[in-house]
Amino acid sequence: MMPAERLALHGGTPVHTGAWPKWPQHGPRALALIGEVLAGERWTLSGSWTGAPALERVFAVEWARFCGTRYCTPVDHGSSALFAAIAALGIGEGDEVIVPGLTWVATATAVSRTGAVPILVDIDPETLCIDPRAADAAVTPRTRAIIAVHLYSAMAEMDALRAVAARHGLALIEDAAQAHGAEWDGCRAGSLGDVGAFSMQQGKPLTSGEGGAAVTSDEQLHRRLELIRSDGRLFRSAPPPHGHPELDEIGGIRGYNLCLSEVHAALLLDGLERLDEQNRIRAANAAHLTAALASSAALLPIRPYAKNIHRSYYHYAVRVVADAFAGRPVDAVCAALEAELGLWVHQPYRALDDHPLFAAFEHPSRFALPHAHHAVGHTILFHHRALLGDASSMNAIAEAFLKVERLAAML
Ligand SMILES: *Cc1c(COP(=O)(O)O)cnc(C)c1O
Repeated sequence: MMPAERLALHGGTPVHTGAWPKWPQHGPRALALIGEVLAGERWTLSGSWTGAPALERVFAVEWARFCGTRYCTPVDHGSSALFAAIAALGIGEGDEVIVPGLTWVATATAVSRTGAVPILVDIDPETLCIDPRAADAAVTPRTRAIIAVHLYSAMAEMDALRAVAARHGLALIEDAAQAHGAEWDGCRAGSLGDVGAFSMQQGKPLTSGEGGAAVTSDEQLHRRLELIRSDGRLFRSAPPPHGHPELDEIGGIRGYNLCLSEVHAALLLDGLERLDEQNRIRAANAAHLTAALASSAALLPIRPYAKNIHRSYYHYAVRVVADAFAGRPVDAVCAALEAELGLWVHQPYRALDDHPLFAAFEHPSRFALPHAHHAVGHTILFHHRALLGDASSMNAIAEAFLKVERLAAML
C-alpha cells in the first residue's frame, strides 16, 4: 500500500530541501571599489576633493542613464528619495497627496514627514497597484500629487495616472522602490512621472544594504533635490583645489543630510553590473512558474497592464481564489508552503488603514479600501531571491503549491 501523502508541516517529506540563492549578492568589483574608498580620503560626497569624482557621482550618471532620465540624486534610503521628491515639489503643510492603500508604510510616512496628509485610495485587484479611478475620485482642492507605487512585480497604470494628474494639475511621483528596470511602453520605471524614487535597501533588486535615488528630467526639480539631500549644498561646477570641499553652500531651501556614502555607492556600481541579467533571469523563471501554476484552480496570476512589457520582480505574487485551499486562511497556506520549500512565504503588506504605525499617527482613512483588504487575505508572496535559481527550483515551487492544494483539508 502507498503511504499516505503528508504535508511537510505534519512531518511529511518536503518538496524542496536544497539552498535558495543568496541575497544580497556582491561581485569582485564591490571589493575592489570599497578597497579604493577605504584607502582614500573621501568616504562621502561632503568629504574633500581628492582629484577624482566621487563614486556617488559616477553612480548618479549611470543610474540616470539606466532609467532614461537626465538626472539622478542618490540618497541614503528609499524613504529619503520619496521625502525629497515631495519636498522638492514644494508640497507640505495643508496639502494632500494620494497614496495607494497597499504599499510599504514608507510611501505614506514620507508624505507625513513633509507636513502633508497622505490620502489612501484603493488598488486595482488585477495588479495590486493604485487604481487610477480611485485616485481621480480622491482629488480635492488641496491635492498636490499622486504617488504611483509599482508593487511586487507589476507597474501601476501610468498612462491613466498621467492623464489624471494632467487633468487636475497634479504632480506624479513614482515610488519605484521595487521596480528597478521595469518598463512601461519602452520607458523605464522612474522616468514616467515628475520624479521617480528608488530604494536600494537590502531586499530590493539593486541594493547597497541601505540606499536610494531620486531621478528626474526636470532641471529645477533636480536642483532642489540636490539641495534638499545635502544640507542646502550643490556640487561646484569645477573641481576645487585639492583638499577643499566639492560642495558649495547655496541654501535657499531647507536641506537635510540624506547623502549616500562612498561605500554604498561602490556596492551600487557593482550591483548595477548584474541588474539587467538578474532581471532577465527573474522574469524568465517567473514566467516558467506562472505557466506551471496555470493548472491550479486555486490560483490566479497577477495580470500586469499590457504596456508593462518588462517586469522587474521584487516579490513573486500570486492571487488565491476565494474558498480555495479548502477555505483555509492564507497564512496557514503560506506556513505549509514554507515547510515544503524552506523559503519564507507570506502575505502582502497590511492595508495601510490597518497598519499599527498608520493607525497611531496618521489621519483616519477617508475611503474604504475593499480591494486592498481582499488582496491581503488572498495573495501569496515570496522574495525574488528564489527567482534567481534554475527551472527545477521553479518546478519545486509549483509542486509545493499543488501539494498544499491537494492536502489543504489537513491544514
Ligand atoms: C522599500 C520601500 C520603500 C522605502 O525604502 P527604504 O529604502 O526602506 O527607505 C518605499 N516604498 C516601497 C514601495 C518600498 O518597497
